[in-house]
Amino acid sequence: MGMIHESRAMPEIDQRQQLSRQGVILTTVEDLYNWGRKNSIWPLQFGLACCAIEMIAASMARFDIARFGAEVFRPSPRQADLMIVAGTVTKKMAPQVVRLYNQMPEPKYVIAMGACAISGGPFRQGYNVVNGIDRYLPVDVHIAGCPPRPEALLEGLMALQQKIAAQRLTGAGRPRHLDGAQSGEFPAPRLEEHDLAPIANPQIWRPTAVKE
Ligand code: SF4
Repeated sequence: MGMIHESRAMPEIDQRQQLSRQGVILTTVEDLYNWGRKNSIWPLQFGLACCAIEMIAASMARFDIARFGAEVFRPSPRQADLMIVAGTVTKKMAPQVVRLYNQMPEPKYVIAMGACAISGGPFRQGYNVVNGIDRYLPVDVHIAGCPPRPEALLEGLMALQQKIAAQRLTGAGRPRHLDGAQSGEFPAPRLEEHDLAPIANPQIWRPTAVKE
């Protein structure tokens, strides 16, 4: 295998394909690094509500998430690099969800699975429900549905794989874990008498502007 360390020296993709047909494989350190990461995503083993049943189904024999290298659900956040927020995030549970995320090592990713995790879903008007985990955590992939089927989770996982594969390791757009100026920890809210404090993390959540 030939390795080229400078992405500028990388041949065009069609040239690579032509060479690979002749048994010559060219790659870059960047592609190799991303290829390894995108095919070994270990999700954190936890669920919040009914969407978690679909997540569990995705890991069973019929849907077989193992085909994507993501079957190793870890019971410890220290060993996981993907948080699938599967279900309703109550205000009582939100501080624990953020704390678990903070305990995961970098690089780490978040999938918001289902209407509840995205926006509060059918419980959006409830006094006890967070209207989207993206108020507190940086979500990489949103999966719509109530509940999304296991196939939708697999599609979301593939979208995350594409995102990882496209990450450049240097330059201004490099991922957070390679940028010393960015932190991988986010403040966990506190559950106070009437609501969470703060009601959102202003660093990562901006309410949609309403035009008058
Ligand atoms: S989105 Fe629907 S299926 Fe998923 S946790 Fe909420 S109510 Fe349950």
